[in-house]
Amino acid sequence: MALKRGLGQSLKFLKKNKKYGWVSAMEDIDSRKAPRGVRDILPAESWKWAYVLNVAAGVTAHFGYSEIHLPVFEHTELFTRGVGDTTDIVEKEMYTFTDRGGRSLTLRPEATAGMVRAALEHGLCGDRGQGRASKLWCWGPMFRYERPQKGRYRQFFQIDVECLGLPGPAADVEVIALSAEMFRRLGLKNLEVVVNSVGCPQCRPQYRKVLFDYFMSRKGGLCETCLGRLERNPLRALDCKKPECSSIADDAPSVYEHLCEECAAHFEEVKAGLTRLSFPHRLDKRLVRGLDYYTKTAYEVLSGDLGAQNAVCGGGRYDNLSESIGGPHLPGVGFAAGMDRIVMVMEQQGASFREKPQSQVYVVAQDDAGSCPEARGAAQVLTHRLRTKGIAAEQDGGDSVHAARSFKAQMKSAAGAAWACIIGPEELAKNLVALKNLRTGEQIHVPFEDVESHLKT
Ligand code: AMP
Repeated sequence: MALKRGLGQSLKFLKKNKKYGWVSAMEDIDSRKAPRGVRDILPAESWKWAYVLNVAAGVTAHFGYSEIHLPVFEHTELFTRGVGDTTDIVEKEMYTFTDRGGRSLTLRPEATAGMVRAALEHGLCGDRGQGRASKLWCWGPMFRYERPQKGRYRQFFQIDVECLGLPGPAADVEVIALSAEMFRRLGLKNLEVVVNSVGCPQCRPQYRKVLFDYFMSRKGGLCETCLGRLERNPLRALDCKKPECSSIADDAPSVYEHLCEECAAHFEEVKAGLTRLSFPHRLDKRLVRGLDYYTKTAYEVLSGDLGAQNAVCGGGRYDNLSESIGGPHLPGVGFAAGMDRIVMVMEQQGASFREKPQSQVYVVAQDDAGSCPEARGAAQVLTHRLRTKGIAAEQDGGDSVHAARSFKAQMKSAAGAAWACIIGPEELAKNLVALKNLRTGEQIHVPFEDVESHLKT
C-alpha cells in the first residue's frame, strides 16, 4: 500500500516536472529493457568471453603481468586531471554523479588512470613511485556516454595491460608484442598494428604551435569540434574522422620533424624492436589517440573486419600521467583491448573459441510416469557428488524447466555429454549405475560408489 502511494506520488512529481528534459526521457523508459548502449552478455556468448579472458590470463602470465581488480568508480578528478580535460571522454562522455556524501564520482571510462592511482596508493612501484617496475593487468566494464552503434557501447569491456616504472623503449615493444601475441593465440586474422610517436612535454609545444598555425590557415575547412578545441589541443584535429578535416590533416606537418632527440631515439628503438621481433607494423603520423596522457609511443591494432569502429586495441606510453594526478614521476606504457570487439571479430571470422564447454556427465533417472521416484533421489545425490569431485555433471531439471521427464527425453538432453549415468529400478536394487559412453555407445555397470574412479580412468 505504502509502496503504491510512493509510486503514485513519484508519477505525479514527474508529470508536474515535465519541463525537465530528463522527465520526458523517463516517460519513454521501458523497465523491461536495458538502458540504451548497454547490453546483456547472454549464456550463448558469455562462454566465448570466458575463453578470451582465459587466453588473456595465459598470455599476461607468460609475459610476467599480475592481475589486479580495480573499483568501477573513482573520484572524478582522477579522470579530469589524468585523462585530460580536452578529451572527448572528459568533455562529454563521463558518467559522473554525486554520492550521498556530496563527492563527485565517475564510473571509470578507462582503466589506466585507476591503475596508476592504485600503484601509487599501494606503493607498487616503491614508496615514491620509483624503484621497481610493476606489471599489471585487469579486465572489466568501462563506461562512456557515446552514440551507440555496432561495436560501440556505453558499457563495454576492456582487457587492460600496464607496465609501470620502466622508461625504456623495450617496455613499449613488450607491451605491443603482448597484445599481438594475445590476438595470435585467439586466432584473430586481418589485423594491422599502427604505430606513432606523439612526442613529450619538451618537443610537443613546438609541434602544437606549428600544427595550430597550419590548421588556422585552413580553418574554413575544419569541422566545428576541431575548430572549438584547436587552441587547446590542435593535435586532436589530426585524428578527426570527418572527411573535411581528414583531407586537411593528411597534409599537416609531420610530427617526425619535430620530435626532440630523446623522443626520436626512443621511437627508433621501438621500431627496431618490433622489426627484431618480426612484427609487421605501419607508421601513421596522424595517430594521436583520444586521450591526452600519451607521450612518445602511441599505437593501435586495427581490424579489417570491423567497419567504422575498427580498433580492437589501443595504447601507448604515458610518462606524465602520474604527475598529472599529483604523484611522483612514474613512467608507464600499456594498452586496452576491447573485449566486445574481439569477440565480434572472432565470431565474424568463424574462430573456434575452443569447444563450447559441455557437461561431461548427464545423470539419467529411469522414472517414467513416476514409477521409481527413488531413482530421481539417487540421481540427485550422484550429480552433486560428481560436481564436488570436479566433474561437470547435469541432471533432469537442471537444463530444462520440465523436471521428471521421460527416460527418452533425458537421453536426448544427454547427447552433448561424454557419459550418461543411468539409474533405474534394476540398478537401484543392486546398488549399481549404468555408465554409457555416449561416443562409442558402450555400456557397463559399476558400483554406485565407484562412478568417479571409472570416469577418471
Ligand atoms: P581507448 O580506451 O579509447 O583507447 O580504447 C581501447 C579499446 O577499447 C578500443 O580499441 C576498442 O576496442 C575498445 N573500446 C573503446 N571504446 C569502446 C566502446 N564505446 N564500445 C566498445 N569498445 C570500445
